[in-house]
Amino acid sequence: MKKHRHVWHHVWHGRDDIGLRCECKAVRERKMTSYEKLQWKAHEKRFNAEIKRENKVWWEFERKFKTRKKEKRVKIGKKWFTPLLQDGWKWSGYDLMSRVEKWAEKYPEDVYVCYCDDTHFTGSRIFLILHRPGPRRIWGTSAVAVTQCDGLPPKEFFLYPGHMKGIHEALGKILKLRDRYS
Ligand SMILES: [Zn+2]
Repeated sequence: MKKHRHVWHHVWHGRDDIGLRCECKAVRERKMTSYEKLQWKAHEKRFNAEIKRENKVWWEFERKFKTRKKEKRVKIGKKWFTPLLQDGWKWSGYDLMSRVEKWAEKYPEDVYVCYCDDTHFTGSRIFLILHRPGPRRIWGTSAVAVTQCDGLPPKEFFLYPGHMKGIHEALGKILKLRDRYS
């Protein structure tokens, strides 16, 4: 590269220091100014708050209502991991239904309670729990069907926006048909 005046771009920062680099690969470190320190603090605070919100409601649901078991340790690269696998539910039927329903009240924008009947015609629920990769994004929703009296474990599935549209359209058509008949 020709002789030039470096243009410094921020590459990293520590507690007090900042690292800068020019396109010519020249590197420079210096102390952060107090203004920069304040800027970074504010930025980190925002960033951490966002991370905490990520899929928070779904993780809480898993923790509260599912059981997990530790699997055999596996080696990935140079590190050992103990995978935790979801392997069941802490409750089922009415017990699970009423517990999740109560919990859902805490998150009116993230958890939706839909009513249905099971094969014994007893009142059951489909819980829709949103997955949010960030505070202002929705990735899709988990649907958990909890039946009350058929003795079957809850059934869980995932809906992307396209799936939701399909169900929404089908139900719309059925309702229209019903209106036509009545
Ligand atoms: Zn340069």
